[in-house]
Amino acid sequence: MLHHAGAGPRTPARAWRARALVVAGVCTAALATACGPRSQAAAPPTGGGLSVSYEAPLRGGADERAFLRGRRLPEKVAEDLNRSVRLPGRVQIVGRSCKQNDTPEYDPQTGRITLCYGFIGEVRSMFEADRGSGAVGDTEERTAGVVTETLYHEAGHALLDKLDLPFTGHEEDVADQFAAYRLLGQGDAGRAALLAAADNYDQYAHAAALHGLADADPSDEHAPDAARSASYRCYLYGSAPATGRSKEYRALVDGKRLSKERAGLCEEEYEDLRRGWGRLLAPHAAGR
Ligand SMILES: [Zn+2]
Repeated sequence: MLHHAGAGPRTPARAWRARALVVAGVCTAALATACGPRSQAAAPPTGGGLSVSYEAPLRGGADERAFLRGRRLPEKVAEDLNRSVRLPGRVQIVGRSCKQNDTPEYDPQTGRITLCYGFIGEVRSMFEADRGSGAVGDTEERTAGVVTETLYHEAGHALLDKLDLPFTGHEEDVADQFAAYRLLGQGDAGRAALLAAADNYDQYAHAAALHGLADADPSDEHAPDAARSASYRCYLYGSAPATGRSKEYRALVDGKRLSKERAGLCEEEYEDLRRGWGRLLAPHAAGR
């Protein structure tokens, strides 16, 4: 395999974020959960493709599982990708209670994307704490947005792996760009999801700063959370037509989370990622 050669589980996204949260004390009982038996499974595709299953929640997690299932967040991502991409192998999205930390991950050995119930509770608690800050958006909607962005990020790893796609640079950046690529093609709901993810990265960066932690380990393959947020804001800004940008888009360039200088590059950055992912996936389009 070109990517992840000899690797075990793909280093989880937000690995550092989870460490920061433990220190910050934001994670609660979710960290004490353990993995349990599978209670049910959605029918997998007959050939390759993505499928979804849920394991029984253990010691909490029932609300989070109901949240996922009620909104069909994993199912919608799986359906979107199965409609548009022909995968030679199977990728299973599994909702579960996790044993140690609640970081989402893609494991190339098993073809499994794990979404921990505790992660959903963790994100929701951060948005609830943020409610008084004048932040825009409903807590549940923003939480759903982060979960959807996370699923697309992990699916990006899965596509790079299963389709053996060539790329340069950090795979984590490429997976973030895939999430932006899909979400920015989904109208207002997709843009809101990407903005919620950007906001959530800022929250983690802020929580780290409050506790005297650096935003990232310099050797971590993930970009610092504040940088991931800036890139998502940049793609949001760059995807809007340059003429007649609405107030909402202009507000993304606040000089702190996204500088005016970077904003000047964003239209090109977004076009590069849109064209790049479009070209990577074209030979694998469903129905070809
Ligand atoms: Zn990742």
